[in-house]
Amino acid sequence: MLAGLPAVPRYRGRFAPSPTGPLHFGSLVAAVGSYLDARTQGGEWLLRMEDVDTPRNVPGAAEQILATLEAFGFAWDGPVLWQSQRAAAYGEVLDALRRAGQAYPCACSRKEIADSATRPAVDGGLAYPGTCRAGLPPGRAERAWRLRVAAGETAFVDRLQGRLAQLLEHDVGDFVLRRADGLFAYQLAVVVDDAAQGITDIVRGADLLASTPRQIWLQQCLGYLTPRYAHLPVAANAAGEKLSKQTLAPALAAGEAAAELVRALRFLGQPVPAELGRGRPADVWAWAGAHWQFAAIPRQRSISLPA
Ligand code: GLU
Repeated sequence: MLAGLPAVPRYRGRFAPSPTGPLHFGSLVAAVGSYLDARTQGGEWLLRMEDVDTPRNVPGAAEQILATLEAFGFAWDGPVLWQSQRAAAYGEVLDALRRAGQAYPCACSRKEIADSATRPAVDGGLAYPGTCRAGLPPGRAERAWRLRVAAGETAFVDRLQGRLAQLLEHDVGDFVLRRADGLFAYQLAVVVDDAAQGITDIVRGADLLASTPRQIWLQQCLGYLTPRYAHLPVAANAAGEKLSKQTLAPALAAGEAAAELVRALRFLGQPVPAELGRGRPADVWAWAGAHWQFAAIPRQRSISLPA
């Protein structure tokens, strides 16, 4: 290595659960996929608790997630980063974007946006029609802060899902960085923290695919490097709905750790012998460390589990 240059990490991955409930099978898949991609490349694996949306946090859920990860045999590098303690860092970034004229205040209520929007956004909401882009209308007070988006295409090549391009202005509109309730938005927090933690590789569920161009645009506005992305298929129930608290996905049972890890590996296309599910998590990890094949992961956005 050249003297005097800081060591650039070759691979630094992360898992970033939101403590809105206990870990379920869908979040285990993301944890297993990001962990093995990191560890089999000699990379680091960091843990971040995405508790920025404080009204959604469920008391005790974060501690329960950490205990489950430990019981399942995950070992993370360094201390856990808690987004609820990062308001100062997010505020500084918002200030910088504001000074650069890239972020602007918005007075619109949800109802006003619903009444004036002309098209749906990629993630199911409404594309912001740009009402406050040229300044707050007279007599109106600021509610949220939004980021001005690119007029052209924002694209990236996902390691699993291939190329994805969005026309942010059309497909999303200027998006929220700080919400009307004063909380920082996930999109801002995740980008600031991925950069602060030096994350080079993001492996997460394909439910976040549509958010990625927004995150890349924000990275570009801030002069951050864009990490590599791999979006894993999400686990859906027999009705095709993503497993989540809303669809009442069951919590993972700590006593079933080896069996659940085997299920997660099979979901990710890894031919792990079924009998390992009756043993200890350490034996499943030993098999996975020796046999993990990224190329075997199904290149799908969603896979339904049998009922
Ligand atoms: N906190 C997000 C979630 O639990 C994950 C965000 C990410 O991995 O970028 O869905």
